[in-house]
Amino acid sequence: MNAGSGSGRLVTQNGEWLSGGVTTTESPTDDLGFDPDALRDKYRRERDKRLRADGNDQYIEVKGDFAYFVDDPYIEDDERIEREPITDEVEVVVIGGGFGGLLAGARLAEAGITDVHIIEKGGGFGGTWYWNRYPGAMCDIESYIYLPLLEETGFMPAEKYTKAKEILSHSRAIGEHYGLYDNAIFQTEVLGSEWDESTRRWTVRTSRDDAIRARFIIMSSGPLHRPKLPGIEGIDSYRGHSFHTSRWDYDYTGGDPEGNLTGLAGKRIGIIGTGATAVQCVPHLGAAAEQLYVFQRTPSSIDVRDNSLTDPEWAASLEPGWHRERMDNFNTLVSGGFTDKDLVMDGWTSIIGKFIDIAKKQGDGFSIANVGQTMELADYVKMNEIRSRVDSIVTDVDTAEALKPWYRQFCKRPCFHDEYLDTFNHANVELVNTDGRGIDSITEKGIVANGVEYEVDCLIFATGFEVGTSYTRRSGMDLSGVGGVTLGDKWDTGVRTFHGAFSHGFPNAFIVSHVQGGFTANFPHNLDEVSSHIAYVIAELKARGCDRVEATQEAEDAWVDEIIETARDAADFLESCTPGYYNNEGNPSVRAVQNGSYGKGSLEFFALIDRWRQDGDLAGLDLS
Ligand code: NDP
Repeated sequence: MNAGSGSGRLVTQNGEWLSGGVTTTESPTDDLGFDPDALRDKYRRERDKRLRADGNDQYIEVKGDFAYFVDDPYIEDDERIEREPITDEVEVVVIGGGFGGLLAGARLAEAGITDVHIIEKGGGFGGTWYWNRYPGAMCDIESYIYLPLLEETGFMPAEKYTKAKEILSHSRAIGEHYGLYDNAIFQTEVLGSEWDESTRRWTVRTSRDDAIRARFIIMSSGPLHRPKLPGIEGIDSYRGHSFHTSRWDYDYTGGDPEGNLTGLAGKRIGIIGTGATAVQCVPHLGAAAEQLYVFQRTPSSIDVRDNSLTDPEWAASLEPGWHRERMDNFNTLVSGGFTDKDLVMDGWTSIIGKFIDIAKKQGDGFSIANVGQTMELADYVKMNEIRSRVDSIVTDVDTAEALKPWYRQFCKRPCFHDEYLDTFNHANVELVNTDGRGIDSITEKGIVANGVEYEVDCLIFATGFEVGTSYTRRSGMDLSGVGGVTLGDKWDTGVRTFHGAFSHGFPNAFIVSHVQGGFTANFPHNLDEVSSHIAYVIAELKARGCDRVEATQEAEDAWVDEIIETARDAADFLESCTPGYYNNEGNPSVRAVQNGSYGKGSLEFFALIDRWRQDGDLAGLDLS
């Protein structure tokens, strides 16, 4: 039943049932205290006003006048490497030194393969956590499952949600533990790689004129690698200071990832974007700037953080295998599976508890057929809580209203913070809510939104990263495979892989990614599964005396069909969501679906590739 339909009942923005101004007892979902139909309608209206024909094209590439936006601000002048081009030969080149590349290096080392170059654009290992050092940066997933290789390296994070600095130092510790520094090549960008069938080698070319020969290459350039900027009129006319959050300019702001941005005293700061990054840095900007304007198009959902120090007794009580068990437990719960215990117990997994409560109330009326409907109800309960939290913290009623998210929890990346909302109670902080439209333009002096010009001394782009653009554009490189066919050309009409990791026509090349593989909120979990999968294949090849492996055309075609087929399950959900990079900016087309992940979820995907390895016949791969 829709709001205001037939019965004369109305529903408030909070989803409460009203009749003639009095809350009625006639709701079809009395126990819940809200009308699901009314909420669904509200969500649809909020989505519709954000849908735009230009989708991903609303963003511009960071190049030309903006090329300096991606310079590395974290390398001191005396750390800049000058060197001759490298032209050696190794067993494996891994492209990217983030968690994906580190895990690939670690799992290869465990399989006895150590002749490995990890080539990394940044000045050291860390990837995402090398680049994203903005104030307040921290883990949003529990650190006991987010940080990889905890048991292997014997490391225990200091807090339940650890800070960026500790994550970066753990990345370095992984590099040390597995000897990955010995052959690592930093401050070097891979531009492309060519396959030579006669020698069965790849030649990897870089920004430093290297031509490194490798039997195998593993591409792990990361999904959120290339910052993006909004293609707003006048973006190149701004004359004040500006930077993207992934290259934080501490020379300007002062302070460090812990905050203390003393350089902002007396400054007017504008920040565009209210995603997971902005949510973490806004409290620090608000604490330091004379005036902070937060330009919002869509509010994030801000759930409870509730961080705590790691209990040493608990840590000492953990039995071997605990890390894998905890990762699997979390992944089961966030992938829609069930277990009798919730080990992590946080805002990511709590929706499942609500689901179970509702299902229990339905008693005999609950069946497998209404799982989707029950999950939707649990989602409404969850999001009502999130919206109530805004009211309980933000004192100005209009600001509170503007900060409420109207979409399902996993339509956009959920956020968790205990200071963000309160920042808007401060007199020097103003939320400029554009109600879904985004900012109008950028001028020499500042930002125009809702027809008003806001002059700022510094403009910070918290506008995220390219996701829906082509793989070759995002990774900054292309492969030339069998017969000179490029990966860019092959994937022009959509990604084509087998298991997300192998692509026909590109022998001995492997991809560490969630695309056509398993997507999970705990991203490093997937990176580990894929890295182990690839290390297994390379080790098997060597054990069988082979030196060439390629996905068969048939296996790849079948896998792509399965990706498209299984993704249909998620299509309705994605289509109902407010636009963002989770649903290709509101356009979950067949191509976007093909470029997405395995529709049955990461739980099933990990089980599937595990079974494939157990079978041991490397079905779908040609070995020679
Ligand atoms: P996002 O892509 O999530 O956010 C970009 C923001 O910019 C959105 O709020 C978007 O609004 C806004 N925006 C874009 N164009 C305009 C415009 N024209 N006018 C006004 N606003 C605009 O980027 P983030 O860097 O915040 O996060 C990216 C991802 O990085 C996260 O989703 C998460 O996966 C990861 N991350 C993880 C963290 C962790 O684990 N600790 C911390 C931070 C990030 P709209 O929503 O309307 O599109």
